[in-house]
Amino acid sequence: MNLSILYRGPLSSCNYGCDYCPFAKHTETAEELAHDRACLERFVAWAGTRGTASLGVLFTPWGEALVRKWYQSALAALTRMPHVTKAAIQTNLSCKLDWVEECDKAKLALWCTFHPSETTRERFLAKCRELLDRGVRFSVGVVGLKEHFAEIEALRRELPSDVYLWVNAYKRGRGKEPTPSPSVRSPALSAELLAGRGKGGEQALRISTASGGLQEAPRAFTPLPLGRGAGGVGSLGRGLLYYTPEMVADLTRIDPLFPVNDTYHASRGEACRAGQSVISVDGDGTVRRCHFIKEPIGNIYAADFDACLRERPCTNDTCGCHIGYVHLDRLKLYDTFGDGVLERIPLGYR
Ligand code: SF4
Ligand code: SF4
Repeated sequence: MNLSILYRGPLSSCNYGCDYCPFAKHTETAEELAHDRACLERFVAWAGTRGTASLGVLFTPWGEALVRKWYQSALAALTRMPHVTKAAIQTNLSCKLDWVEECDKAKLALWCTFHPSETTRERFLAKCRELLDRGVRFSVGVVGLKEHFAEIEALRRELPSDVYLWVNAYKRGRGKEPTPSPSVRSPALSAELLAGRGKGGEQALRISTASGGLQEAPRAFTPLPLGRGAGGVGSLGRGLLYYTPEMVADLTRIDPLFPVNDTYHASRGEACRAGQSVISVDGDGTVRRCHFIKEPIGNIYAADFDACLRERPCTNDTCGCHIGYVHLDRLKLYDTFGDGVLERIPLGYR
């Protein structure tokens, strides 16, 4: 049995101050940090007892966790467990990186977000180079704010072409109604993507030929009938206007999977791995199928924990984050990401 866990403990502090984030420059008391550490160490000890099943872990902290030594130690410990296949973490990459030498680097992966308002591209790229030198797998990403377009382009230019750069669509203020097909919004987009033309086209082509996953994507984006879900095509809300079709095309040349992220995927009643082979776990061990459905389904510290792992149709109308929709069967994104699902590295990238 394979189980992937998205762990999010009580930690909620960050050394950065991104103005769209509730954890910006938030500090915690010594007691709060000690509690987070105790929760994490309990989780790692529990993971060590799961020797019969292969386990993948992605830490998805509210704030920045890698500046805390106990997260570095947790990753080192997890990667050294024979049954753990992957230990990954979302990070702003502001920490020192010498700790990675304590890890089994073949199993370590970082999901690194560049925040142009908080650090310089040069400093961030220096950390990326250090990861490359140290032999650590990582993806790089950035929120697609308009004021950062030039930085995003420069980042793509300066990163090695086989390091995946994802762009998260800025969705604040957008309703969560299902998004129509990217081909409806930008008719040339899917064809251009698959043909691999334009800036970044090399990557688009590589993904589509290496995995076939993107070949599947346009079929997965069948336009929704009017009236389905809370809205329908006619009431998609002002958020869609954040990007013009030209901007979508430009961002897609940088990240061939941008249209997948720039979408609220209709999910109610759909089959999803969340709750069966992928779960969300908090500091108390409470299990939820994913970060987006609050109803608990069990607790990892309960004797009958495994009984809660079963197939469940999604009960939300839509799913709009990579860490959620990547597990939605209909999108077939496991074909695109292979064993890089947790750290967000598609097949064909380093
Ligand atoms: S780095 Fe991440 S957690 Fe920290 S303030 Fe920015 S968005 Fe928030
Ligand atoms: S589709 Fe998204 S919201 Fe629904 S169960 Fe899966 S991860 Fe959760």
